[in-house]
Amino acid sequence: MRAVMLGLPGAGKGTQAERLAGHFGIPHISTGAIFRQAVQQGTPLGRRAKAYMEQGALVPDEVTVGIVRERIESEDCRRGFVLDGFPRNLEQARRLDAALERNGQGLDAAVHLVVPEEVAVRRITSRRVCTGCGATYGAGEPRGEDGSVVGVCPQCGQSLAQRADDSEDVLRQRLLVYETNTKPLLDYYGERGIRVDVDGDGSVDAVFGRIVEGLRARGIQAGAVGRAEQGTPL
Ligand code: AMP
Repeated sequence: MRAVMLGLPGAGKGTQAERLAGHFGIPHISTGAIFRQAVQQGTPLGRRAKAYMEQGALVPDEVTVGIVRERIESEDCRRGFVLDGFPRNLEQARRLDAALERNGQGLDAAVHLVVPEEVAVRRITSRRVCTGCGATYGAGEPRGEDGSVVGVCPQCGQSLAQRADDSEDVLRQRLLVYETNTKPLLDYYGERGIRVDVDGDGSVDAVFGRIVEGLRARGIQAGAVGRAEQGTPL
């Protein structure tokens, strides 16, 4: 299955993309995570992306598209992928389609997580990320073995912090960028008949169940032999 995730910052794209990728046994590709890792490691890509990210702006397409193209053409993406945070504008969407078409492929689904803006804002302003492994935790998380909320990452023991671009100022800018640049993708994928709208308000399990159901209703399910599983040689 080749899918992209759509929705406001805080809609739950990262969490659900990870679950979905695990369900289908395909890679979860987050452009935001790729950029954050590059920033942390101080690579040339990280140095280029940092200022844009800090301002809640989009990293230029000529940087972003090349990274995604290379990633989706790697061997482990032969059976598909779940893209999270890409595309963010029409140009990226068109270039993704063109890259896939060159290999005789196409997207199977654009999963749109629908949440009210106030829910997204609440999730973003209360979320914490691990400074070590990058795991994300929502309000009331993570919990230790005794069930109480703990202040370090249970997966790697490192401290938790707010993502620099989750501050209220930067978030406002990210919402603006979503409205202007990313929202038109809803029509773009709607017109192509691959948009799957899913109510993203609820528990992680409940939302995931709705996504699986929404995909199944379109004939997309793990293990099925369909367009998603044909593995057209690159
Ligand atoms: P995310 O983790 O998806 O919220 O992304 C964090 C930040 O990384 C964004 O606010 C952008 O600055 C940058 N970024 C992530 N994905 C893209 C993309 N597809 N195009 C441009 N910038 C991106």
